[in-house]
Amino acid sequence: MRRPFVAGNWKMNLDRASAAALAKAIVEGVEAFPLVDVAICPPFVYLSAVGEIVAGTRVGLGAQNLYPEPKGAFTGETSPLMLKDVGCTFVILGHSERRAMGESSDFVNEKVLAALEAGLQPIVCVGETLRQRKENKTSAVIRRQVEGSLAGLSAEQLSRCVIAYEPVWAIGTGENATPEQAEEVQSEIRQLIGIRYGREAAESLRIQYGGSVTPANAESLMKMPDVDGGLIGGASLKADSFLAIIAAAKTCKAS
Ligand code: PEP
Repeated sequence: MRRPFVAGNWKMNLDRASAAALAKAIVEGVEAFPLVDVAICPPFVYLSAVGEIVAGTRVGLGAQNLYPEPKGAFTGETSPLMLKDVGCTFVILGHSERRAMGESSDFVNEKVLAALEAGLQPIVCVGETLRQRKENKTSAVIRRQVEGSLAGLSAEQLSRCVIAYEPVWAIGTGENATPEQAEEVQSEIRQLIGIRYGREAAESLRIQYGGSVTPANAESLMKMPDVDGGLIGGASLKADSFLAIIAAAKTCKAS
């Protein structure tokens, strides 16, 4: 059985006071949904403050990126050990907004390995652009990103990862993938994992959907058999909409 997992990607939003207020409201609100795992991913500078609020609660703390070295002369970067030190258990890696800045699947792979080495659970993002979808390249792009980002992982390492399918054309656009489009790609991802790691590993892997998830469309997406929760951007910035999506994740099929 896969427990549904909903994570909020706050991106480069909020300030110290509003980040703390949002974290407190989520900590209180999630008590009503014990069957759904929840994490929030604030900007780096607010990780410590939010980490203190969520410590010892059901809400996990995640970062939005890391640099794949333990320490050293890497100006402006943040190491996996630093993230652990401030209470992170998750880290989003390979988000399309970072891939768009030139981050390759090889580099994402280095980050995934570094995260695992430090004991962090990576949320590995993959997704096609609108152009790739129109050119019928979705499956090939997803396969390259999944295989590249997860290269060299043992089955045990894979079991500590989460994959987020995030079609680039659906992120922050208000145009979500239909439940059928999400299911088609997410079942393909599960099949790919099955080919490489076996059926059991594929069946236990959690695959989130991300891209314009709102309280209005969440339930129809979460009901699909291979959708195990969501990575939520815009709608995670307000407690009521994020909590409504968490409520919808109770309907995840595999839970
Ligand atoms: C995201 O950035 O991961 C995301 C899914 O954003 P949004 O929900 O705003 O589309």
